[in-house]
Amino acid sequence: MVVHTRFAPSPTGRLHLGHAWSAIQAHDFARVAGGAFTLRIEDIDGTRSRPEHVAAILRDLEWLGLEWDGEVTFQSQRLGLYEEALDRLRAMGLLYPCFCTRADIAASLTAPHGPEGALYPGTCRGLEAPDLGKPHCWRLDMGRALATLQTRHPPRRGGDGEGFQLFWQDEIAGRVRAGPASAGDVVLARKDAPASYHLAVTIDDAAQGITHVVRGVDLFAATHVHRLLQALLGLPTPEYRHHPLLLGPDGTRLAKRHGAPSLEAMRLAGEDGRALAERLRAGQLPVGIAAAQA
Ligand code: GLU
Repeated sequence: MVVHTRFAPSPTGRLHLGHAWSAIQAHDFARVAGGAFTLRIEDIDGTRSRPEHVAAILRDLEWLGLEWDGEVTFQSQRLGLYEEALDRLRAMGLLYPCFCTRADIAASLTAPHGPEGALYPGTCRGLEAPDLGKPHCWRLDMGRALATLQTRHPPRRGGDGEGFQLFWQDEIAGRVRAGPASAGDVVLARKDAPASYHLAVTIDDAAQGITHVVRGVDLFAATHVHRLLQALLGLPTPEYRHHPLLLGPDGTRLAKRHGAPSLEAMRLAGEDGRALAERLRAGQLPVGIAAAQA
């Protein structure tokens, strides 16, 4: 198998050290294996994505000495693929339009909480005659999705009686049993964007033949949903490596609020990007910054 990894930034801001850390790991994983490394710009969010961020990302990666193979891909140019997948899921009866605003969801005080905040309470599930002329997103009916897989894979006689289960192989966490139910009825097409992160990333990783998804452990919870979408859509499951994150002095994931300079600022200040990449590879982190798995 030819190893194929990717770095998939969203161009909604400038990259910082945490992105460099992640890009280096995805890049080196492929290079060590003699494989390919793809750069995919995740710009489905038309309101927050900016061409000037894209331009800075390309320059930052070159400055770090990270070369990608082939053309850069842009999710904004692949919307047809996501639409096709949505049509398939809709035809399977697994999607429903949802008209709720964030405020509506927050106001439903009984909403249970999942790994990514309040779980959608299912208000719009089973609406009789939804008015698709009004702004809406499309949600996955999680209960039905899981039931569909159970029906497709009935328990074998003499099996352990636990029913159908999904797994993925994680280079760090080992064999992980996917538990997508705790994510609830996730959004697959947003009100303001033709696909959600969950859908687009799953489709693209499969369509681009990504064999190893190397990304931060902050996206570990999302993989439960991605594994489910792969099963529903008949897509291959790559291996995953959810790597440790860079943390700021307060122990939270490194972000702009820590005041760390962007890669662009370091580049424009004349810093040597390749030397920085070497230091990161050697685990030599700036003062106050630590790497941790959780
Ligand atoms: N576009 C996502 C981000 O910038 C990362 C996608 C991924 O690696 O799966 O956070």
